[in-house]
Amino acid sequence: MSRKGCLVIISGFSGAGKGTVVKALMERFDCYALSISATTRQPRPGEENGREYFFKTKEEFEELIRQDALYEYAQYVSNYYGTPKAYVEEQLEAGKDVILEIEVQGALKVKEKNPDALLLFVTPPSAQELKKRLEGRGTETPEVIEERMARAAQEALLMNKYDYLVVNDQLDDCVETVHQLIQREHLRMTANQEMVAKIKKELSEMKGE
Ligand code: 5GP
Repeated sequence: MSRKGCLVIISGFSGAGKGTVVKALMERFDCYALSISATTRQPRPGEENGREYFFKTKEEFEELIRQDALYEYAQYVSNYYGTPKAYVEEQLEAGKDVILEIEVQGALKVKEKNPDALLLFVTPPSAQELKKRLEGRGTETPEVIEERMARAAQEALLMNKYDYLVVNDQLDDCVETVHQLIQREHLRMTANQEMVAKIKKELSEMKGE
């Protein structure tokens, strides 16, 4: 029986460790496909085009918008970020659970378009810890850190629209929780309409025997 994949969105404040959670999830389980986003922001040291992101100029990005090649996109700290549409659709069709690691505006657009999408919000245990993690990264200027903390306060206003909150305190526990939440989605009645139809048909056939 064919099983369509589940679209999973993982968001969280910048510095919440969601990238680490997603990386560990991909390493531990092979049932997930990770979407690689396009962005106009500059690569950070160690980032490679086509691995962390597809790095684009503003003009190239706007061309993707015009071609309707993005599943969603948003502006974040004066750069564009967007999800290439073709990959998401192909992988879902092939039965893979597709992970989008995206920010809140884009996540809510996806939920509107696809109400079955599972929205997970990853947070550190406290705002203090968030600031500590951002500073510890050592890749951002103090101005960018301030901008990201301000953005976190804005994003917190929309956390309630997510399906689940996952506290990233212990990485392993957090990854296991995310995996369990995704797997549970496959048990939903709405995700099992083919099976429901099959059993109904078998039962009605048996009645006539
Ligand atoms: P960063 O610059 O730290 O890599 O990412 C900044 C924010 O953009 C993060 O919250 C990240 O999850 C989000 N982001 C990354 N890719 C996408 C995308 O394709 N669409 C949207 N809406 N947000 C994204």
